[in-house]
Amino acid sequence: MCGIVGYIGNKEAFPIIINGLKRLEYRGYDSAGIALVQNGIVQYKKQGKVADLEQFSCTKNTSGSIGIGHTRWATHGEPNDVNAHPHTSMHGKFTIIHNGIIENYSSLCRQLAERGAYKCASETDTEILANLIEYVYEKEHVSAEKAVRIALSQVEGAYGLLVLCADEPDKIIAARNGSPLVIGVGNGEYFLASDATPIVEYTNRIIYLNDKEIAVISKHELSLKTLFNDTLTPIIQELDLDIECIEKAGFDHFMQKEIFEQPKSITDTFRGRASKNPPEIYLGGLYNVMDKLDKADRIIVVACGTSWHAGLVGEYAIEELARIPVEVEYASEFRYRNPIIRANDVVIAISQSGETADTLAAVRLAKNAGATVIGVCNVVGSSITRETDAGVYTHAGPEIGVASTKAFTAQVTVLTMMALFLGKRRKELATERYEELITELYNVPALIEEILLDNEKYLHVARLYKDAPNSIYLGRGILFPVALEGALKMKEISYIHAEGYPAAEMKHGPIALIDENMPVIIIATKDKSYDKVVSNIQEVKARKGKVIAVVSKGDTVIAQLADHVFEVPECDSFIAPLTTVVPLQLLSYHVAVLRACNVDQPRNLAKSVTVE
Ligand code: GLU
Repeated sequence: MCGIVGYIGNKEAFPIIINGLKRLEYRGYDSAGIALVQNGIVQYKKQGKVADLEQFSCTKNTSGSIGIGHTRWATHGEPNDVNAHPHTSMHGKFTIIHNGIIENYSSLCRQLAERGAYKCASETDTEILANLIEYVYEKEHVSAEKAVRIALSQVEGAYGLLVLCADEPDKIIAARNGSPLVIGVGNGEYFLASDATPIVEYTNRIIYLNDKEIAVISKHELSLKTLFNDTLTPIIQELDLDIECIEKAGFDHFMQKEIFEQPKSITDTFRGRASKNPPEIYLGGLYNVMDKLDKADRIIVVACGTSWHAGLVGEYAIEELARIPVEVEYASEFRYRNPIIRANDVVIAISQSGETADTLAAVRLAKNAGATVIGVCNVVGSSITRETDAGVYTHAGPEIGVASTKAFTAQVTVLTMMALFLGKRRKELATERYEELITELYNVPALIEEILLDNEKYLHVARLYKDAPNSIYLGRGILFPVALEGALKMKEISYIHAEGYPAAEMKHGPIALIDENMPVIIIATKDKSYDKVVSNIQEVKARKGKVIAVVSKGDTVIAQLADHVFEVPECDSFIAPLTTVVPLQLLSYHVAVLRACNVDQPRNLAKSVTVE
């Protein structure tokens, strides 16, 4: 994954790059490093967080107005100082930072060793690329830019790349294939980054680099080409992103802030798409594929992680409200299993970042097979949004916490709107029901405000169960994916083993795990499965399990049975995923904080999974 930042201009590069790397730390935090153009190129790098690099560099000379920096999520070689980026070629000509994987690195390494007795100091794939560029440069006597282009033509894999050349120290070369890279255009200065968050405080003028493009940037000039040397005209877009949106605003953690932001992020997501009087859904982003959607025999959802859970909620909603068959696929499985895709299929790709490598590959596969592809993404201008035929943005605002919260509820909001929209178009949904559900959707932000008031209660229960080594999450129907999501949140940030199951499946295995030490979190709001779920609670209690139930407000039956209840206001079952997930998010948040876990940057994880 990795975060990349570069600066070229008249200001001091070091603080800009360090600041930017901190904003990108959600993308990886195994090590951090920086290279600065001084009298020659100097580099400082360190295992650990950006703050460790900052500390390490404080006694060093950090002057210079051109530099590149990196925060790493290791793919090749363990997280240590040597494997940290930047990597410099063996003869010292090129210093590079890289996001992605050079898939043919071992064959390149062999060839280089034979040709030029090149040796690598690190175990990374990246250093081989630095050496390859230098080998081409020295052998062919070409410019740095041409050497990069020739080297990249031999590379298989993904990269977002920034390159400094000791012989041409007045420029940064940037190239992209598969890993995101954006350029911020200032006045006599340019900023480079993996996404716009480090740039937004300096400029809102952005160029998105596309795959197989290379930019050569000096203080006053930017030239853009394809990797095949065709000149391109850079398209500068205006970015609408507020700096306050990417800061903590008084909360202890980004995740906490993002959970509490959900009333707003959901409102932002249906704003302009759902009207109240008269109740109506407009999804303008779908209009250019409307005939395909009308004719679709089937919808395939491709996604990973939390987005996959949102997709499962979408399956329940779309099948029931619009009567279109839906299949929900892990993008990583879908892309490699030669799936049957027909021209009348519509594929919905869900990804917060819009950069998830497996989902992007699934999008490309579906498009090649002739399907219509719709994106549901949060990051505007991201790769998936640019490669799909149509899309609906989630408008949740920047999500910085690695564990997704507000992006999930925004995705579910979009999918619920899609289900209603399609249900109406296909005449599967009576007007009265359609209008009733839109009105309910409108109430969700207020319902979540109410749920957030019970924060102390979630904290209290978290204190009681923070040391449990295991937990089980149960739900039925459209709330089953919420159980999966609740379990995932617990695993991700508190490192407690948690299993999500459809409540009725418990009897087929997980019930064997239940004893007096096992917390069982059951989503048991009032819907058509209510009585069945009450029976499941009885079954857990009969085995002395500890029941924490998410119930509809005023439920006295479950209050008698369960050890703890989290009340949520009553709402329609199609709306309930949006409310019932909130207590589960806060429960895992508090457990993680009490266990002194790094909530925003859980171990081994990164936000935007741009590697396979
Ligand atoms: N493959 C490079 C490394 O391991 C970059 C990793 C990444 O982008 O996640 O250092």
